[in-house]
Amino acid sequence: MKVVKFGGSSLASGKQIEKVFQIVQSDFERRVIVVSAPGKRFAADRKVTDLLIECAEQCLLNNDPLQWVERVLERYSSIALELQLSNEIVKEIENDLAGRLAEDRSKPNQFIDLVKASGEDNHAKLVAAYFLKQGVEAHYVNPKDAGLFVSADPGNAQVLPETYELLYSLRERSGILIFPGFFGYSKEGDVYTFSRSGSDVTGSILANGLKADLYENFTDVDAVYSVNPSIVSRPREVKELTYREMRELSYAGFSVLHDEALVPAFKAGIPVQIKNTNNPSAPGTRIVSERDNTNGPVVGIASDQGFCSIYVSKYLMNREVGFGRKLLAILESFGLSYEHIPSGIDDISIILRENQFKPLMEKEIKERIETELRTDEVVIERGLALIMVVGEGMRHNIGTTARASKALANANVNIEMINQGSSEVSMMFGVKEIDEKRAVRALYEEFFAAVTV
Ligand code: ASP
Repeated sequence: MKVVKFGGSSLASGKQIEKVFQIVQSDFERRVIVVSAPGKRFAADRKVTDLLIECAEQCLLNNDPLQWVERVLERYSSIALELQLSNEIVKEIENDLAGRLAEDRSKPNQFIDLVKASGEDNHAKLVAAYFLKQGVEAHYVNPKDAGLFVSADPGNAQVLPETYELLYSLRERSGILIFPGFFGYSKEGDVYTFSRSGSDVTGSILANGLKADLYENFTDVDAVYSVNPSIVSRPREVKELTYREMRELSYAGFSVLHDEALVPAFKAGIPVQIKNTNNPSAPGTRIVSERDNTNGPVVGIASDQGFCSIYVSKYLMNREVGFGRKLLAILESFGLSYEHIPSGIDDISIILRENQFKPLMEKEIKERIETELRTDEVVIERGLALIMVVGEGMRHNIGTTARASKALANANVNIEMINQGSSEVSMMFGVKEIDEKRAVRALYEEFFAAVTV
């Protein structure tokens, strides 16, 4: 049995939903279908989720949300028209949205979640109505009835452990189950969404709970590419990679799959297959526990901007008990989370996401570190990009770091920082943002250009 998730662009129009129907029909194992809200039909289009968030925000400002409501309903009614569905489904969606907008607004973030989750919830109902019209037994499933319980964190819900066992009973239901992605219910019965693009997470949770044989994730690209195609043209497709490799790649900008979506599938050992709704016969990319590493040490190169480093040096830091703890406690008091900590004998760098800084925070942090830890030097550097060179094969290959640094040196890129994760699945280079693209191209050239597929 397969759990199959379709993303927003795969469900953005009637024509796309027809493709989805064909894909589901072509394999009787595709039993549980997770749907996103209608996404973009063309580059300048708006996602229904974005419209819904704006709609909720307007309500919270006590403005008339009519214009947003109309735009959302227009998306559903044009899809219904294309699929020749009766107007009843559009009426149902209209009533549902009106009901949500009339709910209590005293907890603004909870209200936003309730409104934005309607994108998926109503689309699941519409898709189920279309399958039925095509003569296929299909049922919309409400996540609360199915037992998908989450923590009460607006916009960042986490699945509760009991969910997995509860979901298993869905296996007994007949027909094709159409399940809305992106949200679950708290124990108090309120709607909370995962972070953006979280329908991937729903699919993975269902695959785990139902003990599926495969989790298929349909999107709008043929495969995961070994590097960002907007930096290197026509890069190699990756046929197979491990959960850990995918995790490292999606951390640094590979956006094909939500970075929280791997854990549930991984825990249950369920392979994930990325496929293209617009080209379903393409094999796609398979994500598995283990793969053979005969294809060279590196599977992909990812990069992401928006990082900064706090460099701290103090002579004999290595002998000072509690130095690291005190330093991290200062960051904690500012509510900052860190990404990496490369360190030496007398110095340590803390890498953070820059967007966490509020105005003036930088100066205050620096002063507190200097006075409380009596350091020799504290330098905060902004505008860093992190480049991750990823591959399980690096563990068994000698000289990968040397090859990477040589390639960067030849491209005249100054390495600000190197960190090799303890798992040896990835190597991280910090470079200035302006050097990012040049660095990625040089690394791709080194590890992929000469390799024949
Ligand atoms: N529609 C939601 C979003 O845009 C969730 C998803 O598509 O997975 O973030």
